[in-house]
Amino acid sequence: MTPADAPAGGRIMIEVEESPERMTAAVRAARERGRRVGFVPTMGALHAGHASLIEAAAAACDDVVVSIFVNPKQFGPHEDFTRYPRPLAADLALLERLGVRWAFTPSVAGMYPAGAGEAVSVAGPADPFEGVIRPGHFAGVATVVKRLFEIVPADVAFFGAKDWQQTRVVARLVRDHAIPIEIIVCPTVREPDGLALSSRNAYLTPAERARAVALHAGLAAAEACWTAGDRVAVAEVALRRALEARDIACDYAAIVDPESLAPLDDPHGPAVALVAGRLGSTRLIDNRHLPARAAGAI
Ligand code: AMP
Repeated sequence: MTPADAPAGGRIMIEVEESPERMTAAVRAARERGRRVGFVPTMGALHAGHASLIEAAAAACDDVVVSIFVNPKQFGPHEDFTRYPRPLAADLALLERLGVRWAFTPSVAGMYPAGAGEAVSVAGPADPFEGVIRPGHFAGVATVVKRLFEIVPADVAFFGAKDWQQTRVVARLVRDHAIPIEIIVCPTVREPDGLALSSRNAYLTPAERARAVALHAGLAAAEACWTAGDRVAVAEVALRRALEARDIACDYAAIVDPESLAPLDDPHGPAVALVAGRLGSTRLIDNRHLPARAAGAI
């Protein structure tokens, strides 16, 4: 640690940086001093799921950058961009407690000045599931992640398995554009009853919150079918029925290849079960990895 990184008297204060240019310069300077920089992109409204990514970054890196940016490009015209929660002061207090070095809080104009942030399209894993239900969503994700990786040239970036399809889109983006950053995927953090933490859980009424456990319960039912040697279609029906039993409109319930998200070539797996459902005006997604099962088990 250089004197610049370790002021006398203790922990480094968080710096809140709005300027892309100054953010890039700070990360470059840290890396030139030999520091390993970890990056956690978020849209804010931080919860324990985000905190787990930041803790993983802090454990693996010398300095951590967390971006807070509600990216308009990844919301459809009838989605929740304007009502998306933005509790910035509470978010910054959490980042400070977690020992984050920089909070990057750009404006929309700063992120997308004329000539920057040109739309990036990613095929393959971006096409099915969320790509069908939310047209343009992953183009918006790929565009903002590419721009963020330009502005925050970190060694490594951390993403949550909660958004499994997004992790595959980001992996493809990094590969297609030869972006020199390592991607680490961290496990999903859940409520005690199994509901995956999400900033959107705040929209749920108490009654909807009680029903929302059906996504987790459905994934557990699908895994039980999978382990018992049922056909893939049978496990998918068990997943869909768990949602329907709690009056949740199911957008998709599918068991697919965990990398390509294409239908399984081999019904033995490994696989990932993906699910999305709507409760009132709130959409929730979740997933579960299914290990390879023994040949002849089906
Ligand atoms: P968001 O703020 O929703 O864009 O999420 C920022 C990052 O946090 C993404 O990489 C998400 O996958 C991750 N994340 C969101 N919820 C969870 C969770 N429950 N557990 C782990 N990571 C999560």
